[in-house]
Amino acid sequence: MGMVVFRNEPFSNFANPAVRAAMEEALMKVKQELGRTYQLVIHGNKIRTEQLGVSINPGQLDQTIGRVAQANQEFANRAIESADEAYRTWQHVDASDRAGYLFKAAAIMRRRKYEYMAWLIYEVGKNWAEADADVAEAIDFLEFYGREMLRLDEVQPLVPYEGEDNQLTYIPLGVGVVIPPWNFPLAIMAGMTTAAIVSGNTVVLKPASTSPIIAAKFVELMEEVGLPPGVLNFVPGSGAEIGDFLVEHPKTRFVAFTGSREVGLRINERIAKPSTEQRWIKRFIAELGGKDGIVVDRTARVEEAALAIVQSAFGFQGQKCSAGSRAILHQDVYDEVLSKVIELTEALQVGDAALNYAMGPVIDASAYQKILSFMEIGKTEGQLVLGGGKVEGNGYYLQPTIFANVTEDARIMQEEIFGPILAVSKAKDFEDAIRLFNHTEYGLTGSVFSENRQHLTYARHNMHCGNLYFNRKCTGALVGVHPFGGFNMSGTDSKAGGRDYLLLFTQAKLVSEKW
Ligand code: GLU
Repeated sequence: MGMVVFRNEPFSNFANPAVRAAMEEALMKVKQELGRTYQLVIHGNKIRTEQLGVSINPGQLDQTIGRVAQANQEFANRAIESADEAYRTWQHVDASDRAGYLFKAAAIMRRRKYEYMAWLIYEVGKNWAEADADVAEAIDFLEFYGREMLRLDEVQPLVPYEGEDNQLTYIPLGVGVVIPPWNFPLAIMAGMTTAAIVSGNTVVLKPASTSPIIAAKFVELMEEVGLPPGVLNFVPGSGAEIGDFLVEHPKTRFVAFTGSREVGLRINERIAKPSTEQRWIKRFIAELGGKDGIVVDRTARVEEAALAIVQSAFGFQGQKCSAGSRAILHQDVYDEVLSKVIELTEALQVGDAALNYAMGPVIDASAYQKILSFMEIGKTEGQLVLGGGKVEGNGYYLQPTIFANVTEDARIMQEEIFGPILAVSKAKDFEDAIRLFNHTEYGLTGSVFSENRQHLTYARHNMHCGNLYFNRKCTGALVGVHPFGGFNMSGTDSKAGGRDYLLLFTQAKLVSEKW
């Protein structure tokens, strides 16, 4: 009997009173569990440290989500050694057994879905639908990568050759350092980690400093499903203290990173230089930033385009590398689309994520300051048509902000802000719109709204981004459906949730026997 075909985890329907009640109950339950302390996990041992990091709710600054031990370099080293030791056996565990851990974890996560959502809501300020999508994507990654490993473990087709038995297998790389982001702190963290593990590697996981608790919950889950000690080691800590140390370690074989362009390029540089004890060229799997955009043609369905612009720009407060932070509008529909976008954005209310406001807080004080300063920059570069400042509250709340008539070289058209700021630009014609779209060093996502088939074909060939969408928003890639990753400064085009992803965590070995 074969495996059940992969299907995406359905989203929750919060219009259903029973679903709302389950969500509210989970929020109450998790609230009782806030404020606990989580330890490092090295070779299955829980390790306390004197220094603790504190994770707070960015929308309720006096609410502590939890405290988490902080690894120094000595613990980071122990974690790598532990992963190295575990690798000796883990690499030989049957692929189907390795996949089994992921399937069990998926089943448990599905059962406790609302609880994981509640952790996300409290720890990073996702509203209910955003938290739901994050958990659904995490479940999808577990289910998808489990199946992908089974597929890679099948006999691989080779050209038959008389007198030889030839076999190609995908073997793991070794010890991986996984550094996930805080913006999909469950899905991307679990996705990168389990892709590495299911492929036969062992992992040292350094969670993002602003979302360590949801990562600790995931590490607990992997313990619960019986993952052997040392396969997944958990070392929260400051990037300044252990970041370079982990990636530069001679026993680190690869680094999987999702985060900023700046940090990604730094890691890339650091790992390029081999240390004397190192025996390999380290592999880098990177998903970096974006300056994504939505192009609206003169033939577009205006209402749909405007809705997609608003969803893409302001979903999770614009804190997605896929966020549509630029809208490029054909001059013939510019006024109409812009006024519709303003109208829809005006309706977005900002407030506590637990109360399910459309928009919650941004992640922390430094993001808040950075976004506020970009609001000021925008005021000098474009015409402020909505927002432009703070929203009162006990957290990092900001107004969804729109600047119109922004020119192509403006900083708010070029730099990734990672916040609720939309820059709107006018294009002379469709070709000009595509040129404006491509005028960026990034290349992650993009959308086109058009009813003109020739224009869509033109866009298909000329828009340079890893995930290009027609007549839909540019966020919300689904595992298996829209493998996700970008070009240029957006990363190594490591298509997460695609058939190529596990190849990044493996190396192909050919054995040829003459007989
Ligand atoms: N995969 C997500 C999406 O399609 C974005 C991931 C990210 O922001 O890192 O919206």
